[in-house]
Formats: sequence, structure tokens, C-alpha cells
Amino acid sequence: MASKLAQLHSKVAACRLCPRLVECREKAAREKMADYRNQKYWGRGVPGFGRIDARLVILGLAPGAHGANRTGRVFSGDASGDFLFAGLYQAGLANHLESVARDDGLALEETYITNVVKCAPPHNRPNHEELTRCRDYLREELRLLKQARCYLCLGRTAYKELQEALGVTLGPFQHGLAYELDHRHLLCSYHVSRQNTHTGRLTPHMFSLILQQAKQLGNLGHVPNRLTDQPLPILPPPPQPLLPPTPWPEKPWLDGDRSGR
Ligand code: SF4
Repeated sequence: MASKLAQLHSKVAACRLCPRLVECREKAAREKMADYRNQKYWGRGVPGFGRIDARLVILGLAPGAHGANRTGRVFSGDASGDFLFAGLYQAGLANHLESVARDDGLALEETYITNVVKCAPPHNRPNHEELTRCRDYLREELRLLKQARCYLCLGRTAYKELQEALGVTLGPFQHGLAYELDHRHLLCSYHVSRQNTHTGRLTPHMFSLILQQAKQLGNLGHVPNRLTDQPLPILPPPPQPLLPPTPWPEKPWLDGDRSGR
């Protein structure tokens, strides 16, 4: 199974199905930001990162042009990643406080991180066709992550795309809201983008609570918080009752012709 995930990662890195995104990721890699002018950019599709036996799967939107598209690892090398990994470190789910490069020794505990679109889009906005095209990769990723018990969706688009990939329709997106899906849970959070974290829409404390909720829903209560080393606090119930279980689709995964990927 691990080798299948590695194969999937290779396909993502080599994929060129979306001309607009290929142009965007390669243009950013050619032109570079001044601060990184001496660095070699990844400039390809950015695969997910983490453990194949993860109980917690975190889904973002897309790689940042000068973050993950530069380093080659999701949420690495930009402000969003700084915020995310600081939270994961405090929650005991990452061994480093930050993520800066593919060879920095970062390892995750019980966690896997990916984006619903694997290439950097202009202005962080993939279009409908690009989301649809990349969904096959997401489906395959989810199929391989068999131990997942909690999907943490960072932002409305990740939440919507996860539903599309799973073939289910749940309720509205709301920060902190969780839905039950058979033996799994789907948890909504504001995205860790600079736009949200610098305006106070999402604070470190709010995100810490989300990660604690995710740990509870993913049966990760045994992973201690790093700074307090205290048992997780008992959180209030989600703001709306969990929806009744929704059966998984019979054949949600596309295993047919994937030529060109
Ligand atoms: S389908 Fe996904 S991986 Fe392929 S080019 Fe489009 S966004 Fe990138």
C-alpha cells in the first residue's frame, strides 16, 4: 500500500493535465521571489505528506506559489505552513515547530496532509475544471489512507471537494462543525491562510481547539499535547447534532484508465 501511495505521489509530481496551473507553477519557479532567488523551485505537482496509517487527514486547498511549489512539500515554506505546523507541533502531531524543506527531518504523528488541488493556481483560485480534474488523485489518496478516522477540512473548498470525492452530501460549512460519516468524522475549520490568521479570523487558540477536536474524533487522545503534556480537555459538543451515518459509496474510486497521469 505504501508503494501505491509513492506511485501516486510520482504521478502527481509529473502531471500536466491542467495547462493553466502548469503554466502558473512553472512561471513561479522560473521567476522566483527575491528572497528565494538562489533556491531551486520544485515547480511541479505537490503530493501529500505524512503517514499512510494516519488517523487524521488534513485537507487544504492548493500549494502556495512560493511555498509548497518552491519546497515540494505541502504547507511548507510560507506563512500558512508556519501557522499549521506550529499548531501540529503543540498538539504533538509533528516533531518540528516548522516545515521549511523536504529534507528538514520533519515527521508527523498519525497524520497525513494534502491539498484538494495539487498544483499552485493563480491567486490561489483553481477553477471548476481544475478541481474536477484533480479529484481523481484525491479519491485515490483517500482510498489508500484506510485508517483515517477524521478528515480536517481547511476551508470551504476543501470541505466541498472532500464531499465530492467521497460521493456524499453533508450540511453547511461552519468553523468547528463536525459531521459523522460511518465510523469517520469530517471536521470543518477556517483555512490557515495568512488572510485568516493575520486578521484574527483564525487565532492560534482557535486552531488549537480544532486540533484537539480532531484528535478526539480521530481517536488520537493518546497523543499528548507537547507544551502542556496534559490530557486533552473535554470539548463542548459540536454546535449542531452530528448527522446520521451516511453509507460509503459502493464504488467511489476510479480505477480505470488513468493514462496520461
Ligand atoms: S490534475 Fe492536479 S496534479 Fe494534474 S495538473 Fe491539474 S492540478 Fe496539477
